[in-house]
Amino acid sequence: MLEIVNNFINGEFVEPHKKEYLDIYEPATGSVYGRVADSSSHDIKIAVESAKDAFPSWSGLSFAERAGYLKKIAVEIKNRSNILAKYESRDTGKPITLARKVDIPRSVENFNFFANFSENFDFELSIENEFFINSASKQALGVVGCISPWNLPLYLFTWKIAPALVVGNTVLAKPSEITPLTASKLAEICLDIGLPKGVLNIVNGSGLVAGDLIVKNKNIKAISFTGGTSTGKQIYQNSFDSFKKLSLEMGGKNPAIIFADCDYESMLKTVVKSSFTNQGQICLCSSRILVEDSIFEKFKTDFCNAISKLNIGDPIDDKTQFGSISSESQFKKIKHYINVAKNESGNILFGGNAIQLQGRCKNGWFIDPTVIEGLDNRSRLNQEEIFGPVVTLQSFQSEKEAIEIANDTQYGLSATIWTKSHKKSNRVAKNIDAGVIWINCWMVRDLRTPFGGMKDSGLGREGGESALRFFTEQKNICKPK
Ligand code: NAD
Repeated sequence: MLEIVNNFINGEFVEPHKKEYLDIYEPATGSVYGRVADSSSHDIKIAVESAKDAFPSWSGLSFAERAGYLKKIAVEIKNRSNILAKYESRDTGKPITLARKVDIPRSVENFNFFANFSENFDFELSIENEFFINSASKQALGVVGCISPWNLPLYLFTWKIAPALVVGNTVLAKPSEITPLTASKLAEICLDIGLPKGVLNIVNGSGLVAGDLIVKNKNIKAISFTGGTSTGKQIYQNSFDSFKKLSLEMGGKNPAIIFADCDYESMLKTVVKSSFTNQGQICLCSSRILVEDSIFEKFKTDFCNAISKLNIGDPIDDKTQFGSISSESQFKKIKHYINVAKNESGNILFGGNAIQLQGRCKNGWFIDPTVIEGLDNRSRLNQEEIFGPVVTLQSFQSEKEAIEIANDTQYGLSATIWTKSHKKSNRVAKNIDAGVIWINCWMVRDLRTPFGGMKDSGLGREGGESALRFFTEQKNICKPK
């Protein structure tokens, strides 16, 4: 039976006004398994009205009361972890073990974290002189929009919704039309825990119509967006008319910089992960691997050898470490870039092909983990975001050269640095233009820290206080003493 994903507006599941739906595919099989509402202007309008109506009473609750709802949502996500992990894996093609270990626990953590962290958020500031007293307070913005991508569906959806709600905003959120299932399960949870009607509204549909209508709606005060850089640019342009606050988390072309004096075994293990976790479809994945020339040949051999041991297979199988690409268009895009690499005289050291599995997954969208060398950093493969299991290798001779190559891109999301020298790692980290830098580790996240990209990778920061500040505005009240 087909899964039907409707909108969630004013505490109810509702069909889209025009009764139009988009297909939802299971990427591991290449077949349609559901239909998602394709919203149009009427749907967005009633969702915004619902959020507006809910705002006065939601923002009027105390912090502790709102945090209480967030904690109840967290408990229910946790209770439903197994089924949510299955949905996430089916929707995205990611290994179910990854959904169980990362996507769902992190969604729980997003709600718990913001419920607890906000207790310490400084909401009132009092400044006085001899004659006057000023009180500056932070207050919710009103209705805000959250737009998220398909690679970490529930994880990134909840990363935006939780801080928006806890400070008192009401939300209109749109998951990716490619992976809408767990967002709809979140709506069921909101119903079950009794979240007041209209506080969270989830509308589905294409980015170009539903997403665009959210961005252009004058009643929506802020947009928190995660997705591609070209979409971020459109959102920036399309929101100018209504002076919205914007937080844009966008693409990357992240370097892993490997010095000869690193802890080699630990580096190798982690760089395989940082390159190919979620089939390379994490914005933080390493896509340009820069290796000091004295260990370049050894690294090449060991890296390819380690990759050859990855278990590629059906995402629902517990043994699978590497699943399918999340959509057919992404699958075609990755194959296209592998051809571009060949035309640019890249040498494919490992992979480079689509894979046909047997049985249930024979029509799925699988591509080998792929390693390419011999391309200049100015080549398209080293400049354009592919967002898939394709990494390039380049060698460098000096720290200075490594920094130059790492920074020679329009992007600046993240970087990893591998060396045992503290001085060197600190120097390099200071000189790399990226918002998130990991030294001798990868994807270690403390949710209190600012998260986001420099250059074309981002505008603003998420996480901790940055998120709470984004979703509030300040008001100063001055009176004589
Ligand atoms: P995308 O930009 O195509 O879509 C993201 C979301 O925006 C979807 O919900 C989509 O429907 C919506 N959208 C599309 N066009 C829109 C428009 N004109 N107006 C409003 N909304 C619109 O991105 P994607 O393909 O879903 O995700 C992959 C991209 O996301 C990659 O570039 C990746 O690097 C990036 N990403 C970044 C981060 C980060 O934290 N920086 C995290 C994950 C993914």
